[in-house]
Amino acid sequence: MKYSPRFRLFPTEEQRDAMDWQRDTVRQLYNHALREFNKIPEDAGTLRQRVWSIRDTLPALKDWWPDLNKVYSTVLQKAVERIRDNISNLGKLKANGYDVGSLNWKKPSEYRSFTYRQSGFELDTKSGPNGRGLLILKKLNGKTREIPVRLHRDLPAHEQIKEVTLKKEATGAWYVSFCIKTDAPPKPEDIDSENTVGLDLGVLNFVHDSDGRSVQRLDLSDDRERLEREQRSLSRKQHGSNNWEQQRQRVAEVHARMSNKKQDFKHKLAHFYTTEYDAVFVENLNVKGMLESPQNARNKAEVGWRDFRMILEHHGEKNGCHVVEVEPRGTTKECAECSVETQKPLWVREHSCPSCGFEVDRDWNAAFNIQQRGWNRLGVVHSEGTPAETATATDTLEVSASRVVETGSPCLNESATAGE
Ligand SMILES: [Zn+2]
Repeated sequence: MKYSPRFRLFPTEEQRDAMDWQRDTVRQLYNHALREFNKIPEDAGTLRQRVWSIRDTLPALKDWWPDLNKVYSTVLQKAVERIRDNISNLGKLKANGYDVGSLNWKKPSEYRSFTYRQSGFELDTKSGPNGRGLLILKKLNGKTREIPVRLHRDLPAHEQIKEVTLKKEATGAWYVSFCIKTDAPPKPEDIDSENTVGLDLGVLNFVHDSDGRSVQRLDLSDDRERLEREQRSLSRKQHGSNNWEQQRQRVAEVHARMSNKKQDFKHKLAHFYTTEYDAVFVENLNVKGMLESPQNARNKAEVGWRDFRMILEHHGEKNGCHVVEVEPRGTTKECAECSVETQKPLWVREHSCPSCGFEVDRDWNAAFNIQQRGWNRLGVVHSEGTPAETATATDTLEVSASRVVETGSPCLNESATAGE
């Protein structure tokens, strides 16, 4: 599988200038190549052939554009090849009914990254200051440079780093991502029903699982307030002035912090579930979204669910865990014990079955149903009847989002002894 972990860079002033110079040189090259590309008639070859024909002119180009000699060759090639990526992305958008024009030249604010392929870079994980690593790049504005990088987690086992991309965020911070290929661990074939979990993704709580954990949503109210304040302040400043630019950066920083917090929370949750269990079951979100109400809360929640679902899938591949979608229709109404359906508006938080008397938290009941449907889909043998019968816990375990963020685990009981 392909995997691109991302790390923060801590360049010196001089290195930062060199990266900015390189980014802008590569941007100009991209714009130049795009102009040349647009002169080629469409019937002159496939998209790839036409873009590659521009790429082939790079050596000659260096004769009248000496700055290009200060940039590593694959970085230049990747910049030209980006035309192909961007055009095929435009094509996909068009195919999906979006109104898109043709490819435009890039302003400095729109061109934020450059990429080394195969060679020209090296990662030294030990020699940097304060336990940091060093990213060694050849020909970064003409010189080999060693940029400190914070490796806050290990790179997964891999044979080779295929590509290295450096990107400057709107906040001004630089990041590096390493594109690597790893061998995915095999997913277990014989699955014990005990080692599976059903997740009910909700509007009020983020997750309620079939083992009784209820994970709350991340509280971002402080950040939201701060964002509104900074945005108000931005609107009072004169557009384009120095103050305005400074304030714009501050707004971008708050945005970035909020988005990082959300990502971190979801990754930790997904890591927990895919390492703790052999199989994780979630509802098919395409259908679930249409079933849930009310409308406004739902749209917002749905974006978060989709994102989490993709992150879950990714961690499932990485950790050798099945991530399986199940049909969401009726998971809330159906009794996990006897399958009889009862209507339940959103404000009814308890499942109390008029037929068999089974009583449990509404979302927990749904999680049980999801787990059961997952068993059926994967063909897991479960001799002991319904999940509700085999469950031993009696009370929901409330887990705060900050708990997940701090310890990476929603298990209050486990971590109390393990001291994580
Ligand atoms: Zn029942």
